[in-house]
Amino acid sequence: MTQALNAAGQRAGVIGLGNMGGGMALSLHRAGFAVTGFDPSPAAREALAASGMALVDSIAALVAASDVIVLSLPTSDIVEKVVLGEDGILAHARHPVILLDTSTADPTSTVRIAQALAGSPISFVDGPVSGGPKAAHSGNMTMLLGGDEAVLARLAPALDVMTGKRVRVGPVGAGHSAKLLNNLLCGVHLVAAGEAMRIARGAGLDPEEILKGINAGSGRSGVTEVNYPTWILNDAFNSGFTMKLMRKDLRLAAGLIERAGAGAPLSAEALRLWRESAGDVADSDDFNCIVNYEEKQ
Ligand code: NAD
Repeated sequence: MTQALNAAGQRAGVIGLGNMGGGMALSLHRAGFAVTGFDPSPAAREALAASGMALVDSIAALVAASDVIVLSLPTSDIVEKVVLGEDGILAHARHPVILLDTSTADPTSTVRIAQALAGSPISFVDGPVSGGPKAAHSGNMTMLLGGDEAVLARLAPALDVMTGKRVRVGPVGAGHSAKLLNNLLCGVHLVAAGEAMRIARGAGLDPEEILKGINAGSGRSGVTEVNYPTWILNDAFNSGFTMKLMRKDLRLAAGLIERAGAGAPLSAEALRLWRESAGDVADSDDFNCIVNYEEKQ
């Protein structure tokens, strides 16, 4: 396949080639970026072997071949190791690099990394994403960006390829905070909508019809408008986003609430329900399964 020219002339590296990172790497490759990928998992590398992108076995090799580096990693601990560790990105950066962390991560760690990178050739921004693996593959993710506007402008060619929608929400770390608050609200809305539907059923009403009414009114949310018709009412529960990932995000959100010192009793109650659901709803289940949690008690 002939590649389209990448007008920006930027080379892209992707570290973490899993469900999300693999799709991002393919989107960039398709758009004409010279893409280099790194992931210690043989299965992740194997999935991209036929793509034609360069798959390297060290962070040093990836840094040498990249002007823009995208991270899509499971946790902040791993992000810190990959960026600041002995054999990490900072240790090998000899030329200007823009580093974009798309992982859903702990904002305190993000700020710590930005401070450690000050004065280095690395410009760091956070851009956690939503839309799932499908949007990562199609280049249609929504991204919440934290970072310097001038750096984001230089990153625009890669962002154009990876996102359908993006919003800058503040300085470094703000993207990760916004993502956690978004997922906190989604977690609260799932619990609340699950209750409303249970109340409707208990009152002898048809939840599907009641939902249509709610979606015409001010009680609607992304959960009632998207999650219910797409994954819940039809019992599909196949959004591609697991309880495990959502539990991670809500644990991080709990840390954000604690540090902010803001009273958040409603969030605390919803977080308690998500935590206590662990005995009934498996980590591997779809995150929408929380709507049925009370019923199982
Ligand atoms: P994943 O487990 O499929 O992929 C993570 C990849 O990172 C794996 O291939 C793993 O081998 C690799 N990895 C682990 N340690 C590494 C290291 N030291 N160096 C390089 N690679 C390493 O996870 P995912 O679903 O792709 O999620 C990635 C990030 O995106 C997470 O932070 C997740 O919370 C976030 N996210 C996921 C979704 C989703 O629907 N899957 C949606 C939005 C955000």
